[in-house]
Amino acid sequence: MLSKKIQTALAGSSAIRAMFVEGKELAAKVGAENVFDFSLGNPATPAPESLKQTVADLLDKEDPLVLHGYMSNSGYEEVRESIAQNLNRRFGTKFTWKNIVMTVGAAGGLNIVFKTILDPGDEVIVFAPFFGEYRNYAANFDASVVPVAPDYETFQPDMEAFAAAFTERTKAVLINTPNNPTGVIYSDETMKRIAEILCKKEREYRREIYLISDEPYRELVYDGEKENFLTKYYKDTIVGYSFSKSLSLPGERIGYIAVPDEAADSENLLAGIEVANRTLGFVNAPSLIQKVVAECVNETTNLEFYDKNRKDLYEGLTGLGFTCIKPQGAFYLWVKSPVADETEFVNAAKKYNLLLVKGSAFGCSGYVRLAYCISNEKINRSLKEFARLAAEYGLSGENTKA
Ligand code: PLP
Repeated sequence: MLSKKIQTALAGSSAIRAMFVEGKELAAKVGAENVFDFSLGNPATPAPESLKQTVADLLDKEDPLVLHGYMSNSGYEEVRESIAQNLNRRFGTKFTWKNIVMTVGAAGGLNIVFKTILDPGDEVIVFAPFFGEYRNYAANFDASVVPVAPDYETFQPDMEAFAAAFTERTKAVLINTPNNPTGVIYSDETMKRIAEILCKKEREYRREIYLISDEPYRELVYDGEKENFLTKYYKDTIVGYSFSKSLSLPGERIGYIAVPDEAADSENLLAGIEVANRTLGFVNAPSLIQKVVAECVNETTNLEFYDKNRKDLYEGLTGLGFTCIKPQGAFYLWVKSPVADETEFVNAAKKYNLLLVKGSAFGCSGYVRLAYCISNEKINRSLKEFARLAAEYGLSGENTKA
């Protein structure tokens, strides 16, 4: 007999994962080379070369009892110090190892932060469209997400809607920039407005309201955009990071949480996060890969690879008449469905072996997401199929480039 919670989770099971499974089934039928699977944000460029040597050296030189042993629930101190110093150098922060907790990816990190701050009935404001798993993470603690609609021209958050979303139960605002699924980077102006509204609401409700910054795509920025670090806008900011995308290590499950000293109740927060890491059953982030990322913290992924895909897909689809938001970061393209019901569009695309994810999976219907972390050769071959799809909807020529 399944629990009510897991029954609910099963009923709303991830559209992304479902499409991924469909892709595998389709590949068995028509051949993997003929399936254009834009469903999953699985990196398509390998981890940096230096990582192999780092793993080999660690296995060779470290005491296996240490390398594969338990450590503090927050992770190895020297690993946390290496990450703290890296952030300080790049962003002018003042972290030490004490401000950092190593986590089981961004997903593990968000869950331990939620466990630390959320009581049943609490609310977390999120900006639509948003990573659909946030709903499940909040539900794990009998809390819920409160989506705020975007400005549909820019896909920056709508500030009036944001200010109106707060209630007595708002514990946190969860933000993700560069954004999955739109590829939009929230501007400096947006961040300043968000911080202003948060400060006002903290005064109004006379308690802290945390900003949780989910940053798996921090380094994936294009066209000279700068990597941003959000603690500079608002003092009560908790940063969640993942190496899944930046070092192409999603299966290794490694990330961290950073809590600055200036955040309200920071010491208790860090103590709570450490305990949550243990009691949720993670115990600690995987030990070997903690040591690996500490060594490779200055490396990053092959940005040119994604940038070329971004340009080819965006130019290709807008050229065919699709309306797309130009991605500034991450590796997703957000495309307006030519019909109001994007499920119909997603199904039509399947006829051409094009696998897209419906916008409603991200709390924003009428759009679809394409994860362009596939080979460039496939992106370019897919354009012929997109042309047939466009013809079905009577699209032609240059359309809106947002
Ligand atoms: N947050 C966002 C916005 C994501 O896109 C993802 C993964 O795609 C995650 C969190 C989870 O990342 P991780 O693999 O590090 O748990």
